[in-house]
Amino acid sequence: MYERSKVRRGNCVGPHTEAQRHREGIPLIGYGSVDTSVAVIGGGPAGLAAAFSLVRAGASVVVFEVEAGVGGRTRTDVVDGYRIDGGTQLFGTHYRRVLALLGEAGAGDGMVRAPGRDALWRKGRAHEVVYGSPTSMLASGALPLGLKMKLGAQYLPFLQRHGSGLDMDALEHAADAGMDGESAAAWGEREIGRDFVDLLAHPLLATLYGIGSEEASAGFYHALSRQGLTLQVLAMRGGAGGFCDALAGAVRRGGGEVRTGAAVSAVRRVEGGVDVAGERFDAAVVAVPAPAALGLLGDALPAASEWLRGVRVRPTATVALLLDRPVPGRFFGLSFPRGETRVVAAACAEENKGAAVVPEGRGLLLAIPTPAAGEALLDASPDDALRAVLPELAHAIPTLSRTIQDVRVYPWRHGWTLFYPGYLARLRAARDGALEGGGPIALAGDYLYAPTVEGAVAAGLDAARRIIARG
Ligand SMILES: Cc1cc2nc3c(=O)[nH]c(=O)nc-3n(C[C@H](O)[C@H](O)[C@H](O)COP(=O)(O)OP(=O)(O)OC[C@H]3O[C@@H](n4cnc5c(N)ncnc54)[C@H](O)[C@@H]3O)c2cc1C
Repeated sequence: MYERSKVRRGNCVGPHTEAQRHREGIPLIGYGSVDTSVAVIGGGPAGLAAAFSLVRAGASVVVFEVEAGVGGRTRTDVVDGYRIDGGTQLFGTHYRRVLALLGEAGAGDGMVRAPGRDALWRKGRAHEVVYGSPTSMLASGALPLGLKMKLGAQYLPFLQRHGSGLDMDALEHAADAGMDGESAAAWGEREIGRDFVDLLAHPLLATLYGIGSEEASAGFYHALSRQGLTLQVLAMRGGAGGFCDALAGAVRRGGGEVRTGAAVSAVRRVEGGVDVAGERFDAAVVAVPAPAALGLLGDALPAASEWLRGVRVRPTATVALLLDRPVPGRFFGLSFPRGETRVVAAACAEENKGAAVVPEGRGLLLAIPTPAAGEALLDASPDDALRAVLPELAHAIPTLSRTIQDVRVYPWRHGWTLFYPGYLARLRAARDGALEGGGPIALAGDYLYAPTVEGAVAAGLDAARRIIARG
């Protein structure tokens, strides 16, 4: 074990001049003189947001990422010119930290408006709808008239009334408002009716968050719905992985190291710091999914370990079909109502997300499995995965099987972080920092805010702030 040399980087020390930093998009604002060496374990959105923030503050940072590339669940795989987002699909105009970091990393123009056109399968056909937009939902043939009337008369006023408690940045407020004690399905069936759950709550939760309406906290669903009223959909040009690539580039340009293919098996507290893979650092950010964090920490953070055991994570796998022509229709995501399908929750026509990820004239369909079916696909071969998803997909897109060129499976062992009833209340302890106990190890990950890239980034920035505050 050797001690990493402490690098003091004020405004003018380090490999870059101020002018270079400015040109390369590394802001001078906030550039301090924190005299700390920090290991960041995990090169996903949470870890890289923390690393970027720490580098900017002047810390000496090393990111350890076990995979060959950064990105975690936002990785983009490139196959024969297809840029396949096997995990994260879309971002939103409410992702203010993501957008700010991207700009500061010099890649703000990488995020583009996605058309936002989705569809819901109902009565044997796809009905276009802009999910979350009340005007579109009211105009769409996807929803029966009775449900539209209840949405206008009951649900939208409910969301307005409870607006202050429904904040995706502070989901614990929904718990304070008493909305975390039951599931979205229980609330929906009682207050509005079964159609609300089958056609609205369930497709959205299953497709975007891998959780059934019976398992998701009602407060989580209401906060999503409230955000959806004004959210515009964004996509990363060239694939979602561009976000983490931009952050990793900025970390390196700022003098930090990003090591890929670098697994960490334990994070141990030692005298005056932390031991990570045989190197000594002043502090560490553990930015891996909760079950992996538990494995790394051992008994280094007893209170945190207890809390982490309450995080539920669901494995899943997505199936990408590389097609010789575009998918018929203009929509991006085609979702299925509750009970309509057994295996496929949604199919995403990647060429329609406006992100230049599919070669001209080709198509790319990504099947997102239902919460119940995802885990079984985890170790499936491409042939087995195709056999599982094709019947339901072909029902909606009859020409599909004739156009398939290749099949890829993207397994996500720690795929979905589940925000179940009772979980929002647990977030308060996490937010207050009770998990770290003021020590040199900070946790980061989507499980600390919201199961989204923005949630992961928020947690990464919090972790960096805590370490900077220790000095
Ligand atoms: C199918 C799917 C679709 C999604 N769609 C969206 C979407 O459209 N929009 C959205 O906002 N969110 C979406 N999400 C959620 C989003 O991907 C996650 O919330 C986000 O990636 C979490 O970031 P993170 O940094 O906390 O974890 P991760 O992205 O999982 O990153 C953790 C990193 O740690 C690394 N790691 C793990 N263990 C070790 C170790 N021992 N040593 C070194 N490195 C290690 C991993 O390889 C990984 O790179 C989706 C998720 C899935 C699964």
